[in-house]
Amino acid sequence: TDIPHWNETPFFKGQTKIVLRHTGLIDPEKILDYIAIGGYRALAKVLTNMQPTDVVDEVLASRLRGRGGAGFPTGTKWSIMQKAQADQKYIICNADEGDPGAYMNRNEIESDPHMLIEGMLIGAYAMGASEGIAYVRAEYPLAVKRLKAAIEQATAMKLLGNNILGTNFSFNLEVVEGAGAFVCGEETALIASIEGKAGRPMPRPPYPAQKGLYGKPTNINNVETWCNIPVIIEKGSEWFKQTGTEKSSGTKVFSLVGKVKNTGLVELPLGSTIEQFVFNIGEGTGTSKRVKAVQTGGPSGGCIPLEYFSTPVDYESLASLGAIMGSGGMVVMDQDNCMVDVARYFLEFNSAESCGKCTPCREGLAQALAILTKITKGEGTHEDLTLLEQLSQTIRDTSICALGQTAPNPILTTLKYFRNEYEEHIREKRCHAGACEALYMA
Ligand code: SF4
Repeated sequence: TDIPHWNETPFFKGQTKIVLRHTGLIDPEKILDYIAIGGYRALAKVLTNMQPTDVVDEVLASRLRGRGGAGFPTGTKWSIMQKAQADQKYIICNADEGDPGAYMNRNEIESDPHMLIEGMLIGAYAMGASEGIAYVRAEYPLAVKRLKAAIEQATAMKLLGNNILGTNFSFNLEVVEGAGAFVCGEETALIASIEGKAGRPMPRPPYPAQKGLYGKPTNINNVETWCNIPVIIEKGSEWFKQTGTEKSSGTKVFSLVGKVKNTGLVELPLGSTIEQFVFNIGEGTGTSKRVKAVQTGGPSGGCIPLEYFSTPVDYESLASLGAIMGSGGMVVMDQDNCMVDVARYFLEFNSAESCGKCTPCREGLAQALAILTKITKGEGTHEDLTLLEQLSQTIRDTSICALGQTAPNPILTTLKYFRNEYEEHIREKRCHAGACEALYMA
């Protein structure tokens, strides 16, 4: 009797579940479970009562923003695509979740694949697309299996295919498995990958809505963006806007990992503070160690120190700190983490994942990694810090795609908030946290 119900534990009690509201409560392998809790009702609503423009207007009014990281207004993206004239249009679900420590999309598909399919069906109707592709990373075999099974079941019930629900709306959806390149999360690289080409980004314009998959207008949204659509249609944009902030409505799912007592997927209204994630839900480190910082946005994000934990988690506030929201990775670090080593770790990841197409990213990241490694070995100089800063800014300003443009963020934020640690490595030739000694100085 002393054991609280799971819903009353600190981890679950403070959460606001919209996207994850069915997680663990329905069997994701049974379409009837989804239908029994009101699934596909939003699709029926748009097909019987709404014109495509009404659907786009509702999504615009909801102020939903892309959950893949960039935060572009979804309704605006849909509106551009809807106006595009072509004999064929495509929609794509980006489920190429590659950030270290992030597994929101994996769980969203594994636990509720029909919500994603319903969101894509509504989007296809609104934008005039008859073909859709879910690009899922192959490292998520259960997500792939469940999504394929869900597509089969929906097709058998005539919720996918020709003349859906007896209307003249037809839509087919297939799964394409990605081969694990981080850069394929970038829209133009993802399109190239689906076409069977090397997954390398292309300069924009043209944007995918003008010339995308096989040269046709294409809309790409992240898994979580699609998953928000059915509830927006069902309950309305006014209801949706009651959660979140003026500029960022709804919730965001984060994967809370690292040096934190309660790890897992956390869904909170946008605008909740970092403190709420790390201390209210995560309950701090759960040890005698002090929380030191949090990394949001994965390898493209930034390290935010404890003093800024009252910052609201929304697109603009995180950007003002030099970080990004990204797709939802949140890695907690404690006093045993060396921030120079953390920057080196993320840079090593980005450098390995660079597609090599443009020089600033390919060569610049390799050079920045060499400097960081030198510093962690106790061989750095003060001039190296200036060089690192200049190099980071050049990579950020001149790379072709978001990978290169955001890759220096971990360096720039650690230099901004933890410069003393860089200087200690240079001056004292040692790592106070002991992390670099373990790697190089032993
Ligand atoms: Fe490739 Fe990096 Fe250039 Fe993007 S920025 S195109 S990943 S080399």
